[in-house]
Amino acid sequence: FAPWKDPSAVPLIRFQNVTKRFGDFIAIENLSLDIYEREFFALLGPSGCGKTTLMRMLAGFEEPNEGRITLAGEDLVGTPPYRRPVNMMFQSYALFPHMSVWDNIAFGLRQDGMEKGAVAARVEEMLKLVKLGQFAKRKPHQLSGGQRQRVALARSLAKRPKVLLLDEPLGALDKKLREETQFELMDIQMELGMTFLIVTHDQEEAMTVADRIAVMNHGKLVQVDQPAVIYEHPNSRYVADFVGDVNILDATVVSVEPGLVTVRPVAAPDMLFRIAQDCPAKVGDSVAIALRPEKLRVELDPPADASVNCLSGEIWDIGYLGDLSIYHVELPGGSRVKAAKPNLTRMVERPISWDDKVYVSFSPDAGVVLTS
Ligand code: ATP
Repeated sequence: FAPWKDPSAVPLIRFQNVTKRFGDFIAIENLSLDIYEREFFALLGPSGCGKTTLMRMLAGFEEPNEGRITLAGEDLVGTPPYRRPVNMMFQSYALFPHMSVWDNIAFGLRQDGMEKGAVAARVEEMLKLVKLGQFAKRKPHQLSGGQRQRVALARSLAKRPKVLLLDEPLGALDKKLREETQFELMDIQMELGMTFLIVTHDQEEAMTVADRIAVMNHGKLVQVDQPAVIYEHPNSRYVADFVGDVNILDATVVSVEPGLVTVRPVAAPDMLFRIAQDCPAKVGDSVAIALRPEKLRVELDPPADASVNCLSGEIWDIGYLGDLSIYHVELPGGSRVKAAKPNLTRMVERPISWDDKVYVSFSPDAGVVLTS
């Protein structure tokens, strides 16, 4: 499933050169983005980057100052929210407290004048979809947070919108329930074949649920791609740093060949890093090297070839996370790198300990050269 790679595919949602200002403040700046039918699309970025504003413009709660927003070819600007084939599920769920689960889900359908039998059939279908059949008579306060979240989901899906907008939908759930619910959301989205647009500042959530992610900063898109591309080939320091854990080392380019860049890291000027990558950088350019902690080997003995892609230093701290341990290594110049190592056996005493001298090495396809 990758319609964005098919030049003949027609996007369902198109933002074209959209700008939104609040007074003098530019919340969204000349932004263009296409989203395809049946996509689970995530908007990811720090607080205040404009994610919610973008979503609210699609829902019709805000209008852009400039640009066009179309859905299935129809211009949405000027169309009131209730006339758009879009529904938004809010973080607060906004359930009616005095109504039962059943009535909460039926509410919008009744308002639209749907015939009684059809309302009942649709509510039952939705209850089944979110696995809440036995809770139909309860009021929201008699439900757990996770169950309330599912009622809200059922209610927003009941009218069968073309697009469901989810604004931090799992924010109120604890970690375990959140992870379970992410998979439920993916199942429901696939089952209904709908387009979901989710706003989140949780990068793991975006990576788990989304077909594609748009990483935003200051009202602009920085990178739009599949989760694995965003993680493995971030296009900038900003994306490398925002999505996942990373070591970012400043370096100077020493040579550039097709598919291979050699750089000298500032933190270890006697070392060379060879990175397998096509790169527009030129000899002498200042760049940054992004190294994910789990792609680094940390060992007491030097690797077979310690002349490239290897740093030596002392263990400064060890974080034990159960499945992984994070080794913080201090280099002679004072910079630090962290390497993650899975705890493959039941180790309480680790072979590597505080103050040990260690070697941190990596293969040429582990690093990414960043020019911006
Ligand atoms: P969060 O993750 O905190 O919800 P966000 O990325 O969704 O953040 P937005 O809510 O889209 O961010 O807000 C983007 C910027 O626009 C923020 O700086 C916010 O203060 C500003 N903003 C949003 N709505 C308004 C408004 N109605 N009036 C003035 N400024 C606004």
